[in-house]
Amino acid sequence: MTIIDGKKLSQKIREEIKVEVNEMKKEGLTPGLAVILVGNDPASQTYVKMKKNTSAEVGIYSVVHEFPETISEKELLSTIDMINENPNIHGLLIQLPLPKHIDTTKILERVSPAKDVDGFHPYNMGRLVEGLESFVPCTPLGVMEMFKEYKIDLYGKDVCVVGASNIVGKPMWALLVNEMATVDICHIATKDLKEHTKRADIVVVGVGKPNLITADMVKEGAVVIDIGINRLDNGKLVGDVDFENVSKKASFITPVPGGVGPMTIAMLLKNTLKAARNFAKKGS
Ligand code: NAD
Repeated sequence: MTIIDGKKLSQKIREEIKVEVNEMKKEGLTPGLAVILVGNDPASQTYVKMKKNTSAEVGIYSVVHEFPETISEKELLSTIDMINENPNIHGLLIQLPLPKHIDTTKILERVSPAKDVDGFHPYNMGRLVEGLESFVPCTPLGVMEMFKEYKIDLYGKDVCVVGASNIVGKPMWALLVNEMATVDICHIATKDLKEHTKRADIVVVGVGKPNLITADMVKEGAVVIDIGINRLDNGKLVGDVDFENVSKKASFITPVPGGVGPMTIAMLLKNTLKAARNFAKKGS
């Protein structure tokens, strides 16, 4: 059994990005990332801080626009318009979740698709499903990097994706289908989850429920990717997979922490670099 080391791989990717950012700076362009943070959710604040720190570490300029919970949708939309027009900012992300009085879809659709480094705009989603060049959501993109690094072949494989959200499960499904895997996608309404996971060569789970995937649910030698992040009452961070027992059957498995999590941030930096490169190519 091999433990897929997301921390190490993300470090390697960040080093590569740093080199590229330096080269870009020599040519007079500093990649810029803007983050919009609304409200005081502690988890969102932590994620934004991490994004800012890792951007700085690789030389990407970043700016955080912080707003109180009470901000109106109109104000938020005009901030997005302003950032869309700013030539020094190449990537823009809206930290989710947004307060209930704000229409998240409307906000995400206002982000210029060319600056959509989270890959949540329907334009990029549509292109991803069609197998065209696009910005791909960072978490599933990070999982694909792991498959590549560990030479896990996807062609013709049976993959079960558990969790069908727009930011994790659905783009994961599209990426895998584009690599010619046969993909089952399961969610809360799936009748018999085990029936699906048990026959898969690769199980990718992103739900948010500790111990959802137990050893009896995976076949011997399966590859198991755990995207879930759950904080237990005792403060311990765990994924959705019963790691201790599932790892005894798996051929490859990701740990939590130190698996998919660090890859997500590395992919955000990669997408920002790509947005800056596209901007430079366009010459505007
Ligand atoms: P979400 O709540 O939007 O979606 C959860 C999905 O799981 C839904 O499709 C739902 O139908 C499905 N689901 C819920 N209960 C289920 C069950 N019992 N059986 C099967 N499917 C079930 O969540 P999300 O934003 O997609 O995040 C999912 C998990 O991934 C969370 O733990 C989140 O913290 C984590 N996450 C991790 C990263 C990372 O960088 N590692 C990034 C994003 C999300």
